[in-house]
Amino acid sequence: MRETVIDGYRLILGDRDCHMCRREGFEGQEVAFHHKTCPKCKGTGKRGSGNCRNCKQESWSRDKRPVGTVLDYERPYAVGPCRSCDGKRHKPADLSDYLPEPVMAQLIDLIGVEAAFRGGELSWAEQHLGMLFSDGELMMSLYSVVDYGNAWRRLQTAVREGRASETETSDREAAIKVRVKAAMAEIAAEVAAKLRDDSTQACKVVSKDGVIGEKILVLIAPNGYTVVTRERDAETRAAILSQVAA
Ligand SMILES: [Zn+2]
Ligand SMILES: [Zn+2]
Repeated sequence: MRETVIDGYRLILGDRDCHMCRREGFEGQEVAFHHKTCPKCKGTGKRGSGNCRNCKQESWSRDKRPVGTVLDYERPYAVGPCRSCDGKRHKPADLSDYLPEPVMAQLIDLIGVEAAFRGGELSWAEQHLGMLFSDGELMMSLYSVVDYGNAWRRLQTAVREGRASETETSDREAAIKVRVKAAMAEIAAEVAAKLRDDSTQACKVVSKDGVIGEKILVLIAPNGYTVVTRERDAETRAAILSQVAA
């Protein structure tokens, strides 16, 4: 089984466990079940004035049972290698699969998590922090949280405390920046910790060509926040991929 690994800024997909053949004792195998007498109709196939519904054969079923019998799930037997994985018990992973935890942790260490203001409040962020994010740049949303302004209030508190801390206008600006930066770092660290604990699909943090995003961003709005990955631009991604080819 090949492991999924990070190579530079590329994700190299390995294999993942096959989900279709995990039955204990029958790993990697296609399983069928012996038949047993239907307990409801005692094998007659009739109940009341009609057919027994408990053992009625569904038209879509592959397992053709005699009338009056049901599958005995206590008695499985192997009929051949698992059709999904050819009996290998693992399959090549793709970008919709969840990243193994250690790989996600490594990815977070590699590109980091940053918090930023978003949307309507952008003008404030531009003015004070020099940050600008247009919708076109933001891709691959990991998740959104409606926190009823909790994260937002923490930033506003940081601004208020900064304002109150100094009397000189220039110093006040600097004090606000320092406090907002600290509050953002705190929120980013909390999100990073959550991401280390949760499963994340590869496609949420990796471009279609396998190049890892530039940064994970926590975009804070007045009523909550969205976690997104900022993709690297096409030129940078091509350069990363060509280095590998060379
Ligand atoms: Zn029956
Ligand atoms: Zn399988």
